[in-house]
Amino acid sequence: MIDTLPPLRAVLEAHGLTPKKSLGQNFLLDLNLTAKIARQAGDLSKCDVLEVGPGPGGLTRGLLAEGARKVLAIEKDSRAMGPLSEIQAAYPGRLEVLNADALDVDPLAHLTPPIRIVSNLPYNVGTELLVRWLTPPTWPPAWDSLTLMFQREVANRITAQPGSKAFGRLAILAQWRADARIVMELPPEAFTPPPKVHSAVVHLKALPEPRFPADAAKLQSIVATAFNQRRKMLRASLKGVRPDIEDVLTSVGIKPTDRPETIGLEAWCALARALDS
Ligand code: SAM
Repeated sequence: MIDTLPPLRAVLEAHGLTPKKSLGQNFLLDLNLTAKIARQAGDLSKCDVLEVGPGPGGLTRGLLAEGARKVLAIEKDSRAMGPLSEIQAAYPGRLEVLNADALDVDPLAHLTPPIRIVSNLPYNVGTELLVRWLTPPTWPPAWDSLTLMFQREVANRITAQPGSKAFGRLAILAQWRADARIVMELPPEAFTPPPKVHSAVVHLKALPEPRFPADAAKLQSIVATAFNQRRKMLRASLKGVRPDIEDVLTSVGIKPTDRPETIGLEAWCALARALDS
């Protein structure tokens, strides 16, 4: 027992919260598991936590029981407001709830640093939110770390190394300015209802500055152009970037005949700088 609130199965029943596929609702009902996920974010006692998609509040309860200073939970489904207000009453002053679409609000402005983001994200908006959090106007970002549940395949793309099939835009974006690692894997049966795929929790810790210097927009644009045609050699996929692209590639130690998934982060940054000068 992590708290004295009713078990989550009873909460779902009492509030008629039947999971909706359209909202990506695969709930975690085991509070020991949600507390374990909360612990992956480290000591939260001096942090404000943003949680997107609390649903009936399993992870929210884990975060509060683990001592989060404050949790701001943003949930689109108004049916979850009842369960969440019961959690608010059990943890006075520590839980704020917004009934909103997380894509429409900028919650980080309402939180006091240090801020950590911990969420079991809805699959349909998970990658979009991650990309937003990784591309703030300035770096370091408002958050210290992200502890996020994704489909395992997405988690693999975030943490992939060069040379692997999963290595691409997401790995480069994430690893350029953060340490990213998978900290937990969960089978479909951990969720209600079970999704078709396995899931994994990724922990990303923001670096104080990028691993290698580069202009963010330039790096993202060259990486996007190259990986849009990931099976092509770079001299072909980047042909339209500059007439002398082969010379630029060679000048930073990249073979024009290489394919993008074999190029490491340092070389991508060197290429972005060369194209910027
Ligand atoms: N955190 C809960 C748990 O672990 O059991 C629920 C996780 S469930 C995978 C995703 C949650 O995100 C659902 O409660 C869903 O209603 C909510 N959601 C879906 N789209 C959303 C959006 N655009 N903004 C905010 N919440 C959203």
